[in-house]
Amino acid sequence: MSVAVYRVYPWSSVALYNGATLLHFGLGTAGLIIAYDGWPALALALGCAYLAFALVQMYVLMPLVVCPSCAYRTMDGSRCISAMNVLSARIAATRPLDEFPRRASGTFCHNNLYLGSLIAPIPLMVPGLVVNFAVAGLALLLAVAGLLAFRFFVVFKRTACPHCAAKGRCPNAQGMGIS
Ligand code: SF4
Repeated sequence: MSVAVYRVYPWSSVALYNGATLLHFGLGTAGLIIAYDGWPALALALGCAYLAFALVQMYVLMPLVVCPSCAYRTMDGSRCISAMNVLSARIAATRPLDEFPRRASGTFCHNNLYLGSLIAPIPLMVPGLVVNFAVAGLALLLAVAGLLAFRFFVVFKRTACPHCAAKGRCPNAQGMGIS
């Protein structure tokens, strides 16, 4: 069955993608603060460091490093799943499309930073909860794990990647067997 490729993603998809992302970062931050609330300075430092890293990799590095060589940068009036192509066009020069797969090459490539921002709260919360257990902390840990699964099995697999004009060059889509 053929799937429509979107030149302009509907606002509902953009809202789902960014809403799930911000909720994930917010719950991850809250979970870290609660897991380490027995040590307030450590809790605040961990929570703030995680939130800053997550937001910067997503809303600063992504438009500067990944989006400039994405297919959505070459299509006038387009809107990708995150709508970051619109921001990227304002802050970074367009790069050759052939460079797009670089998002997944190298230890500190953007893909690894992105995955790190989604996964990191889970292993970081565990030691804190082991020695400083709180039901709210456990609930946040499970919520972040649930959002991670939701991102892979619903946001990527159904809402974003099948309709993406960049999927032919995207190592993530190829990894999921979507391109
Ligand atoms: S295929 Fe998926 S991960 Fe790759 S650029 Fe498109 S939406 Fe992003």
